[in-house]
Amino acid sequence: MSDQEQPEEMTDPPCQEESAEPGQVAGTDLESLGPTPPELRLLLGDLGVNFGVFEPHEGRYFERLRELLAFHGVVDPAAPLDRTNFAEPVSEFQRRHPPLTADGRPGPLTLFELQRSWARQRGLKFVAIDADPFGGGLNRTRVRSDVAVLYNALREEIKSLGGILTSSGAIRDLNAPVSAGRSATSIHYSGCALDLFISSGMQNKASDAYFIESVDGQWNLWARAASGQQRTVNAVFFKNGSTRTEQVTANLINVTELAAKHGFATIGPRDCFPGEYLCAEWWHLQCEAVLVPFISQFGTEMLSIEDIDENRLSTTPLFKNRRLIFKAQWF
Ligand SMILES: [Zn+2]
Repeated sequence: MSDQEQPEEMTDPPCQEESAEPGQVAGTDLESLGPTPPELRLLLGDLGVNFGVFEPHEGRYFERLRELLAFHGVVDPAAPLDRTNFAEPVSEFQRRHPPLTADGRPGPLTLFELQRSWARQRGLKFVAIDADPFGGGLNRTRVRSDVAVLYNALREEIKSLGGILTSSGAIRDLNAPVSAGRSATSIHYSGCALDLFISSGMQNKASDAYFIESVDGQWNLWARAASGQQRTVNAVFFKNGSTRTEQVTANLINVTELAAKHGFATIGPRDCFPGEYLCAEWWHLQCEAVLVPFISQFGTEMLSIEDIDENRLSTTPLFKNRRLIFKAQWF
């Protein structure tokens, strides 16, 4: 089949919902840090996470919060914001935006108010990206413009090593029907996730593009690649509702690692796997580099797209989920 005859785009990627909520990271507890600002304790309580989960994202969190408060003219854009001084400017913003309660706690209502007009001026677009033809996979799909930059860098590196990136699609249309098995909070709606071709792994040891290893309940993806290292992995294969693990020796590159380097995360299977192949989710790559944990919201990521405004969003079943916060209630 020539490139021209390949299907070009599919607006409904196979993923049915996002990964399950990851567990709390054991270890770093606030108590072990000695005196902590009470505002930080309140914030973690509101988010429902312990400090071990928050800490790796703390720098980006306060950087974005400062950017948003500066956008609204509440703080000086150059003034540093951190865990000791964020509550007062947040209270000030809340006072200026009734009926928000001026409690200094950046909860879902406050974050949405901080981000709705900021999101609209981002003017992001859905843009085309190329994928590598494989079987019935796509050779072109679309993602959000900031995600496309990272995807293209990832694909360039994978191709330079002799590997490929296949595709089953990326963006889910706003008006795609929502059903029990199809989440109304899918990260695919905002164009921040893409799916490798679901039949390019777990199928056939001799011809698959990817080999999928199970590591602590998450998937680790390997791709065949001429310049990869020869290694042996325990690859999971699927057939008729069950899996088997087989050793595969080939020249491989670690896609999960390369993806992480470029801002993308792979996820693990949902509970319905291996009963249903579509629950495997090994193909799902979500671009976490463009989202700020505990600030980005499902709705504000949609509103960041030029042609999705609040009027349009409010006519969809997704609207009710607009305030869900990334890594707190939205994954
Ligand atoms: Zn997906």
